[in-house]
Parts: sequence; structure tokens; C-alpha cells
Amino acid sequence: MQNTISILMYHQVGDFPPMPAHRSTYCHYRRFQAQMAYLKRLRYRVLSLDHALACLNGAQPIPPRAVVLTFDDGYENFYEFAWPVLKRYGFPCIVYLLSGLLGQASSWFATDGRQTPPLMDRERILQLRDAGVDFGSHGVSHVKLAEVDAGTVRREVTDSKQTLEALLDHQVRHFCYPYGSHDLTAVEAVEAAGYVSAVTCQRAAATPAFDPFLLPRKAISYGDNLAGYFWKLAMKDKPKGEPLRWRT
Ligand SMILES: [Zn+2]
Repeated sequence: MQNTISILMYHQVGDFPPMPAHRSTYCHYRRFQAQMAYLKRLRYRVLSLDHALACLNGAQPIPPRAVVLTFDDGYENFYEFAWPVLKRYGFPCIVYLLSGLLGQASSWFATDGRQTPPLMDRERILQLRDAGVDFGSHGVSHVKLAEVDAGTVRREVTDSKQTLEALLDHQVRHFCYPYGSHDLTAVEAVEAAGYVSAVTCQRAAATPAFDPFLLPRKAISYGDNLAGYFWKLAMKDKPKGEPLRWRT
């Protein structure tokens, strides 16, 4: 059987009070520690996204038990709670940043009355860049790209790339659709801007059959204990719903 790659989607990692079990944007730091220890113990291969892409496009074989760790939005709690654990294990990761909200509150949560924890500022991002963290773009301002006009899509995709490249002083190659929201206009805008990949929220394991601008991910939720984590890694391999490619 062909090996697949589980691209895991994290958002906040921190010390959260009990909450409805399946909140998909929170991971308690103790569970995160246990999940990373589990990956290490069971000899999962944690790949950088660039390495994973090389596997998906056939330049390298896909190793067994391959995993990519992605973190959306760029919360300061990534630095506080996730980074020390990743550093200890030497696991590569990618954090998707919002170029228009660096160092600000995650204000898009305010509309549904949730807390708006701070996003990493420029200084923190550069500190992590120097320590080896990879960064991608999550757009400028966290909008649903399938619900805005083509000009806004283009600005979100290209302006964020330029701003982040000026900050990081290297190419920003990877994009993440906010809310997973995308349509053909968004997919083509991301490719035209010069990115080499984009991730969605479609739940599946990545295989070479996927368009690199429609890569699926598996969300790790507040309610995932180690059994649930194992199940997501091992079992959720079959894509449902969307086609793997929209373009030939
Ligand atoms: Zn987001």
C-alpha cells in the first residue's frame, strides 16, 4: 500500500479551561506534549512541509508514518507552549501568519464573542525564524477567500507574501486558506502569486493524487485524547467530499 502523509492542523496550544470536546482550534499543552512524545516514541517521521512536497511530487519516496505539523494564525501561545516541545524533539513545523495582524489581537474571533488572544509580533517571529521555524502566509486579515471579490483575493494572497518576505528576508512558499475557504479563483491566485503549496481543512491524508494547492489536513481538537490522536493519524486516510484536483 502506498504511504501517505498526515498533515496535522493545530491552532492554539495553551492552558485552557474545560470546553466542549471538539473545539478544533484549541489543544491543551499537556495533550500537545503527550502527542509529540507519542510521535517520537512510535518513530513517526515528522517532515518539513518542503520535504513532504518533495515526497508528494515524486522527487523522494514517502516514508512510512509521515507527519507534517502546521499551526494556523501565529498565536503568541505557539511560542510559549508548543515551541519548547518541538525544539526538544527537533521536530520541524510551519506557522501560517496573517501579515496585517502581526503583534495584534486575533480580532476575527470577536464577532462570535470568543477571546482574541495575541498574535506573535515581528520580533518574536524573527527569533523563531532564526531558531528554524518555517513560516507561511495565512493572508492579510483572515477573510474567507471564497466569499470576497477577486481583487480582494489577489491582495490577500500577494500582499501578505510581499509583507512576510520583507520581514523574514526569504521566500514565503506556502499558503493556508483562512477557515479553509477557497474556490477556483483563490486556488489560481495562490499559484499565480508564486506559492508552491496551499493547505485546506479537508480531512484526509495527503497523497500524490492531490493538487499541491488543495492539500488536506487533519484537525487536532481539544477533545482528542491519545486514542483519538492515534485514530486520526492511522485511520482517516480516505478523502470524502471534495475532489482531489480541480484542474488537470
Ligand atoms: Zn486561521
